[in-house]
Amino acid sequence: MADLVEATGPASGAAPRGPVLFERLCLIGVGLIGSSIARLARERGDIARTLVVSAKTEATLARVRELDLADVVEADPARAVQGCDGVILCIPVGAYAGVMREIAPHLAPGCILSDVGSTKGSVLRDLLPLLPDGVSLVPSHPMAGTEHSGPDSGFSALFQGRWCILTPPPGADPAAVDKVAELWRRAGSLLERMDAATHDKVVAIVSHLPHLIAFTICSTADDLAQETPEGVLRFAASGFRDFTRIAASDVSMWRDIFLNNREALLEMLARFTEDAQALGRAVRRGEAEFIEDRIERGRKVRRSLIELKQA
Ligand code: NAP
Repeated sequence: MADLVEATGPASGAAPRGPVLFERLCLIGVGLIGSSIARLARERGDIARTLVVSAKTEATLARVRELDLADVVEADPARAVQGCDGVILCIPVGAYAGVMREIAPHLAPGCILSDVGSTKGSVLRDLLPLLPDGVSLVPSHPMAGTEHSGPDSGFSALFQGRWCILTPPPGADPAAVDKVAELWRRAGSLLERMDAATHDKVVAIVSHLPHLIAFTICSTADDLAQETPEGVLRFAASGFRDFTRIAASDVSMWRDIFLNNREALLEMLARFTEDAQALGRAVRRGEAEFIEDRIERGRKVRRSLIELKQA
């Protein structure tokens, strides 16, 4: 059951400036999410006194220097986290275990380790066993994104009015949880706290299943295009275009999400498949009332998203 931290209406803007949160904050990974946090920290000035950034490739690090996104750019994650009181992993969830093995011995006592990954059971699985004494783990998941990736794609307003879910493990230090919550408050996010298993179920239906369906419908259309002399995709109407926007998302990120939220995703896929088959049967049998009911329910859900300002 979700434990509510705060659920006011969508933020009209970010929180007012306050005391600097972290003396030395390290972001490992500086793609869409990492570079959005970096831009936010640079713009506000009250998130980190010194901002350190690390990434995998020299090309990304060079771009970070060009964009002036950090005070310190460091290729080696183990060196990047040294002396930091805050570290946020902004990398694909499949890379967590390897990066944690590298950084764990260098995390200073008192440091808060957080992340932005889209799956949370896997984060506890990969990070907790290697967490040094005196280091607090406060995982978070900003429910904000676009289909773009890399350091050029970020923007500081990305998190405004969007949910951020915190999944601190049992016994997490309340002061560390408050600090991470304050970071997201300053980003303009709405906060919710829940356990990792609940988080993984929620995101399986609202995010992971829609991506799985979008990727699949593109493959199905592509197969059909091979078989149809006129082609298919050049006639793509607004339905196909709107529905498949998210299919442009990053390959390794989504591979990792599917593999690290396997159980919840397969459960939602089974439920969806049953429901889709029921609608298909109604179409075959000409059951107009059943079809109308499903369309009406779809319209109602969509209207409620607009009312919740999450559309
Ligand atoms: P992204 O744009 O693809 O950026 C990923 C970053 O991670 C890059 O800077 C990459 O460095 C770095 N990286 C990858 N493997 C690494 C390794 N082994 N060591 C160090 N750095 C490594 O990804 P993103 O969209 O920002 O996503 C980052 C995380 O946020 C993921 O866990 C994702 O699940 C989560 N998330 C994403 C969204 C979204 O809509 N995109 C929303 C919410 C949460 P190089 O560029 O040098 O390869």
